[in-house]
Amino acid sequence: MDRMSESSRAFATAQVQAGYDPAIAERTAVPSIHQSNAFEFRSLSEARDLFALRRDGNIYSRAANPTVLVLERRVAELEGGIGAAGVSSGQAAVAVALLALAQQGEHIVAARQLYGGTIDLLQDTFADWGIDVTFVDQDDSAAWAAAVRPTTRALFAESISNPIAQVLDLAAVSAVAKSAGVPLVIDNTVATPYLQRAKDFGADIVVHSATKFLGGHGTSLGGVVVDLGTFDFTAEPERWPQLTQPYKRVPGATLVERYGASGSPYIALVKTKYVHDLGPSLSAFNAAQLLQGIETLDLRVERHTANALAVARFLESHPAVARVHHPGLESSPWHENAKRYLPRGTSSVFSFDLHPSGSADEDFALVEALIARLRVVKLVANIGDARSLIAHPSSMTHSHMSPAQLAEAHIGSTTIRLSIGIEAIDDIIGDLAAALAPIEAGQIAAAGAQAADGQLAATSAR
Ligand SMILES: *Cc1c(COP(=O)(O)O)cnc(C)c1O
Repeated sequence: MDRMSESSRAFATAQVQAGYDPAIAERTAVPSIHQSNAFEFRSLSEARDLFALRRDGNIYSRAANPTVLVLERRVAELEGGIGAAGVSSGQAAVAVALLALAQQGEHIVAARQLYGGTIDLLQDTFADWGIDVTFVDQDDSAAWAAAVRPTTRALFAESISNPIAQVLDLAAVSAVAKSAGVPLVIDNTVATPYLQRAKDFGADIVVHSATKFLGGHGTSLGGVVVDLGTFDFTAEPERWPQLTQPYKRVPGATLVERYGASGSPYIALVKTKYVHDLGPSLSAFNAAQLLQGIETLDLRVERHTANALAVARFLESHPAVARVHHPGLESSPWHENAKRYLPRGTSSVFSFDLHPSGSADEDFALVEALIARLRVVKLVANIGDARSLIAHPSSMTHSHMSPAQLAEAHIGSTTIRLSIGIEAIDDIIGDLAAALAPIEAGQIAAAGAQAADGQLAATSAR
């Protein structure tokens, strides 16, 4: 809270100016798009030093690009970190952030309330590579602690999950990470550093899908990994040989020796090994788009947040709506966490349930007809856009999940996800009201209403 009041202005300034030194290049006021694959060396000696990581500079845009560097510095500053890596997508950010921590034969504990793409990555691809992942209910601190093994190398969760918008008890999970001696990695995509600086509550590494609110306009994929500088990899060096043992790519030094005093050994590993070898680089053009988006982050997120809470209150009072999953509402099980962790307001990504009919096919038809009546809110599989977006998780983003996984995630056949945009609030609510009106006018069958009561009781029991 005091960080926020103290630094409200600092945040707004940092989001516009951080990371850019106009003395480079042509003194352009706005970061230039350095659309160049590679950079000309002044001499072979300089090239040799750069390749040996003895000095910092530009070699080739897969590993580092000056426009991407501005983005990295800006997001690092907004999150309070010591270094960052910009990559091609949020998916890439999650992948390289965790690969730099957990090797074959090692283990990760993750919340089961994760973005669908992250669940695929952890339970399919990481399993193929021999990295074991245990999924736990993120609200169950005992489950986090019980899942830790000697081979555990990271804990991973989202600060606000989607579509149900659970707000993580970050301090509780951070305490488990600290006693396990491993970093807590937080996907802060939905909260953004404006609503929550995860570092203040004990996170060690933050990842973003910059595709969403950071960019904010639905034009450019990108991801960022930020080292918050809070985890000491030298406390138990044998656990982290990738940072504390000699590293072939820095002749004669370990990454901790080379970058420990200034910079981030962890980010150096992410860039010089995982981004370099696997290739998920961020383009200069996308970095410039994301930078421009970040310049208005606080203004947009404030509007997103206010609009979304107004929509949630409207939906909560609507007879066709069985339940609204929005942590800003007093009825939410995560309302107390929201007050503690998101004092500036909660995110604009949340869900609501219509009264289910008892038949998945009928529910699909009901939701399809509702979406077909919308004019302002668009059917799009994305979040964090300036536009208001709607999605049906059980037939779209979460369609590959098993019935048990869907139930655990509180996603039913009538669960509808919204990402509320920055349009005029009356237009958004008017659009939803018109689309819901025919349902209100009598499409809720008596049997359906009874089934809905059953589900409601089950949901509120947890
Ligand atoms: C979208 C998203 C991702 C993946 O990001 P992409 O940029 O689409 O690859 C990861 N985590 C969360 C929470 C997301 O919403």
